[in-house]
Amino acid sequence: MQKIIAAAALAAAALVGQAAEFPAKPISIIVPFPAGGPTDRVARDLAEALRKPLGGVIVVVDNVAGAGSSIGSAKAARATPDGYTLLLNHIGMATMPTLVRNLPFNVLKDFEYLGLVDEVPMTLVSKPGLPATTYPQLVAWMGQNTGRINLGNAGVGSASQLCGLLLQTALKMDMTTVPYKGAAPAMTDLIGGQIDLMCDQSTNTTRQIEAQKVKAFAVTSAKRLDTPALKALPTLQEMGLKGFEVSIWHGLYAPKGTPSAVLAKLNAALRLALKDPVFIQKQEGLGAIVVTDKRLEPAEHKKFVAAEIAKWSPIIKAAEVYAD
Ligand code: ASP
Repeated sequence: MQKIIAAAALAAAALVGQAAEFPAKPISIIVPFPAGGPTDRVARDLAEALRKPLGGVIVVVDNVAGAGSSIGSAKAARATPDGYTLLLNHIGMATMPTLVRNLPFNVLKDFEYLGLVDEVPMTLVSKPGLPATTYPQLVAWMGQNTGRINLGNAGVGSASQLCGLLLQTALKMDMTTVPYKGAAPAMTDLIGGQIDLMCDQSTNTTRQIEAQKVKAFAVTSAKRLDTPALKALPTLQEMGLKGFEVSIWHGLYAPKGTPSAVLAKLNAALRLALKDPVFIQKQEGLGAIVVTDKRLEPAEHKKFVAAEIAKWSPIIKAAEVYAD
């Protein structure tokens, strides 16, 4: 018994020692979606912006995709809690607890909260050849094609799935959902015309809309956006979908048990990174809003996620879509 206590004391002392010199080697941010998608985009921009505040240490992105973000999130929850493995995930942190029946981790108990990063509106986009250019025309086309419409998403628990689900409920229309490992491969198939529609984050759609590789019909925010490529788009609320508002957020997490001195250094670095003009300009250029409010406090970030879980749970239960 004494031996066990001594070993535990030694391990704790080692962690305190490591915390003092943190960060002394590259940090890895797990992104639970494939490269090239919206979650990957913000993580890569953030990794760059974190480098200076972390004393020049390299921050790498590790894409661990699958199961709507639960595989990568589970890997992060089980990682050594030393600050060298972090997780960047989106609203899935709040929807997975209801959407995924056997989630292999507890969102509120298995992570340390480091702060919210950004908020991103979504856009309703279609394959380039779809014979509609306005939202009313799209709805008319949907009416003529009932039972034949394919709606892509990034898997159960993803933001695109949530948005598609809300859309089908609001329109009282069933579509065939086509799950991908992430929004990047779904976007490739949308551009290629293999699927008809997707509701995806503006950080993934803006460049494709500008290049006219996809058609855009509406945004999911309460107000129209300022971003040049998106400002002509109506909101879904304007188009008659009362109360339809989805905003995707991203947050940064560490495994539970990461030493508090390390968490404090990571939180301080995150705050500086979110003030980096290059980071801000990249995010805003794609319709995202960088967080500047109290949700940069770990406790407020956690409170916000808990409130989001409570907000989405009844909506998801009402739509009766689950995954095992
Ligand atoms: N964030 C996307 C979604 O949830 C997935 C991705 O980043 O690839 O739809």
